[in-house]
Parts: sequence; C-alpha cells; structure tokens
Amino acid sequence: MSRSILALALLASVTFAPAQTPLQSVIDAAEKHITAELLGAHLGFLADDLLEGRGVGTRGDYLSRLYIKAVFEGLGLEAAGTDGKWEQEVPIIGINAQVSRKLTAKAKDGRSLSFTAPRDYTAFAGRVDNVTEWKNAELVFIGYGIDAPEQEWDDYKGVDLAGKVVLVMNNDPSDDPKLFAGKTRLYYGRWSYKYEEAARRGAIGVIVIHTTPSAGYPFQVIQTGQGQERFWLPFAKIEKTLAIRSWCSEDAARSLAALGGHDLDELRSKAETRAFRPVPLGVTVDVATTNTVRIIKSANVLGKIPGTDPGLRDEAVVVTAHFDHLGKGRPVGDDDVYNGALDNASGMSALLALAKACANLDAPPRRTILFAAVTAEESGLLGSLYYARNPTIPPKKIIANYNIDGINIWGPTKDIAMIGYGKNSLTDLAAAVAKRRGRVLVANPETDKGYFYRSDHFSFARIGVPSAYFKAGNDFHERGDVRRRIKLSYTGTRYHQPSDEYDARWNLEGGALDTRLLLECLLRTVADDDPPTWTPGDEFEKLR
Ligand SMILES: [Zn+2]
Repeated sequence: MSRSILALALLASVTFAPAQTPLQSVIDAAEKHITAELLGAHLGFLADDLLEGRGVGTRGDYLSRLYIKAVFEGLGLEAAGTDGKWEQEVPIIGINAQVSRKLTAKAKDGRSLSFTAPRDYTAFAGRVDNVTEWKNAELVFIGYGIDAPEQEWDDYKGVDLAGKVVLVMNNDPSDDPKLFAGKTRLYYGRWSYKYEEAARRGAIGVIVIHTTPSAGYPFQVIQTGQGQERFWLPFAKIEKTLAIRSWCSEDAARSLAALGGHDLDELRSKAETRAFRPVPLGVTVDVATTNTVRIIKSANVLGKIPGTDPGLRDEAVVVTAHFDHLGKGRPVGDDDVYNGALDNASGMSALLALAKACANLDAPPRRTILFAAVTAEESGLLGSLYYARNPTIPPKKIIANYNIDGINIWGPTKDIAMIGYGKNSLTDLAAAVAKRRGRVLVANPETDKGYFYRSDHFSFARIGVPSAYFKAGNDFHERGDVRRRIKLSYTGTRYHQPSDEYDARWNLEGGALDTRLLLECLLRTVADDDPPTWTPGDEFEKLR
C-alpha cells in the first residue's frame, strides 16, 4: 500500500467508523474484556509474596511499576508521565521522630505538669529538621478549629496564632442536622484538616483531643504510631508547617485545661455554637523530638488513551488506583509480608482490566482517558497528592476522577455502594447506569467514618475535580448471609494485616460485574456533552 493510500485508509477509519457506532454498543463490546480471570491474573502477580507487600521505595514498588508499565505498553496506551516517559517521579521524605524532651506544661503561677508518651500524648515532627520543638509556647483552645464561610462558622475569629500551639476537638459539630451535614463527617471533621488550618494561621503545633466517639477508634490506634516512620512530600519553601503535630488523651486534655483554671467540658460545650471564641488557656507547653530523615524515590505510572473529538480531547477523565501497600513489617505468626491483596492489588487489577477494555474500543473516546497507577497511598495519599500538585493535565480540564481502592472479592451483588453518595453529579450518572444494568446504587452506610477523605480520589476533589469511589455491595445474588459474614470478617481481621493475601478461590465475578459498571460510567463521562458538576453547596464546589 502506498503511503498516501495508507493515510487515506487511516483517515477513513478514524473519521467515519466512530460516528456510526452508538455508544451503548461500544460499551457492550468493550466490557467483554473485563473478566474474573483477567482480574485474578493481575492479582496473582501483584499480591505475590515476591513483591514483598509493595512497600514505598522498595524492590516490590519497582517491580509493581515495571509490571504496570509492561501492561500499559502492551495494550498500546500512550506514555503520559514526565517528558514522554511512563512515570512521574514522586520524591518522598521519611521522618522518624523520637521524643527527646517530654511534654511539659506550665501555668502562670509556676505550677507545672509533665506527660508521658505515648501514654498521654503522641508527638510527630511536622518539619524536615533534625530537631523540632515547642519552647514554652502559649496554648490556645480553639474548639473544633473550623473556618467554614458557607456554614457561617468561624472558630478562629481572627485570633493571632503565630508561634502558638492549639488544643482542638476532633470531628465537627453534629447535633444540628442542618450544620456540617449532620452526622456525616465532612473534611472539616478530619484531624488532618485541623493540622492544615492551624498551620495556615501560623500555629507551630496542634494537640488533637482524642475521644473514641470523635475519632472512631481507640487511643491505642494513635499510640502505636509513636516512634514509627512517617512520610511526606517535600515541603514547598512557602508552605507553613507545624513543628510538631500531636494527639492527647481526653484525661491529658482535662489536666491541661485545669492547669490554666479551665474546665474541659465547659470549654467544649461553648465550642458547639457559632458564638465560640478561642480561649487562651494561660498555659505554656514545651516538647521536642529528634528526627531521622531519609529521601525515598517512587513514581506514579501514567498511561493514556487520547480523545478524538477536536473540541473535547484536551479534557480528560482520570482513573486512579494505588499500587503500593505496607511492605514488610511486624510478623504475625511467621508471616511478615503485608501483601495488600484486596488493598489494593485488587483495585490495581481492575484498573488494568479497564485499560484493556478502553484500549479495545470499537470507536475511540471523545475525551482523553488517563490511567494513573499511583504510589504511596498508604503513606498519606502521597502519590495522588503529588499528581494533584503537579498535574500533567490542567485541573480545570480534568472533568472527573474514578478511583478504585478494593473490589468485590465475595461474589456478585445486586447493589453497588458509593462513598460520597450525592456529592456530585457522578452519583446520578452511576445510579442511572446501575438501573439500566438491573442493579441499584446505594450510599455507603458508614458516613461518619469520613471514607471520602481516605483514598486517592480525595486528592482530586481537593483540586476541584468531581470524583467517585465505589465499594462492594451487600445484596449478594446467592448465599447472602454467609457472604456478608465473610466480607465483614475480612475487613475486620485482614485489613492492613499479612493475611490480606490472594486466594485463587476468591469469587471475582462480583468484582468483574462492578468493574463493567464502572467502565460504563467512565465511557459515558468521557462521551457526555456536559462535564460532571459538584452538588450545589457541597464542600468542594468552591474549588472548581
Ligand atoms: Zn487502599
């Protein structure tokens, strides 16, 4: 064939074929690529002991990336990392902080108290320095530490926090159903928000008061983190950081307040109203940590299928799944490999299966689809956060994000759950798609746990991108009682344990079914004339 005839033939196939193929038949044809066998094949590799739990910066991290690249390349995806490579390098800082001067508190009259870590409090370095400290810093109680203009709520009232340490309550006011989405936890209710907001206002430290109801877990969960390495992205020079981030037990908070002549319960009840004003406690606090710092290199693996519509192809939908897990750690029995089969070799497998379906479309997509295998989710969503700070596509052009973190390994269900149900128009789309498929979209029931802020789609929401995150349903086609029990015990006993291991007997038909539903949502989002939008009044609407 001469070059010009070849060019003509190519042109014809690109220009005419897609227009004649209705979207639904394209979707139906593509979903045949998503099978339980394919999911199992990827899972078997990624969750193998040889990958040593895919810990950040380890050999398993490298092997995972190599595998993902190979799959992307084999499917004919286009490399979409930095400088035409498959990878976007992600630099990560590991800080191990040891308390070197224990927490003490002094009142104006000279009385003092001293506390023991991790019995009474924890202290983590918030900066990359050899020593981080509070030196006789003033302690201010700031209630929930929330500034939410859309709720007409401001706990700060312009207080000067420069060089000070704040004592703050976890969660958000939840008594009034009209405020802060009632019992549903918004980002304002997460401890990470408290740290960020106080740092922005110049505070050098935050002590979050632990209570089991407000945290959702006992103080012991926080205590076990003391002395363990923490991971961060490199701080920008202008970024305001806390010298030390801390939690304390409710008893310790009571003592701190009492030392300054205050009653903790009284302080907390004042914090339940809009009229609350910060209370200087008349106490200074002092603590230091000595830190060991190392630099780790990892990367996100990025592959894309370019869109073909001249008016829309510079817009993209990003599909994310994290490939990292916890690596090797404290042995349980004789097993020290934290395989993370469900979390998140399974989600990574689903992403690779989606990529296969999208690479084999009968008609190419109108908008671009970017597949992002992200690193260091377990270290604080760092891979996706790095991408969000260094996007390869302008955030305004990223019209949606679909994130996969764990799939259904228990068998097909009629329902499929969505975390962040109703937050944006992707809910309506997914509900319609589910209905067409004889299924039903439900809200994930545990809205108080803040799951929307705990996986990679959150990094996209924070730059304004409407994002969706599905979870396995509970309405099983067969043997519902048994399967619900197995599912519950898996999350209860194997989550973040060496026993989260792949078993070839897993029933991945449910995962395949859910991934096909996700494919349909993805391809409709890519093809729709109107980009998704946040629900009016949603906490992320203003970021779009
Ligand atoms: Zn995960």
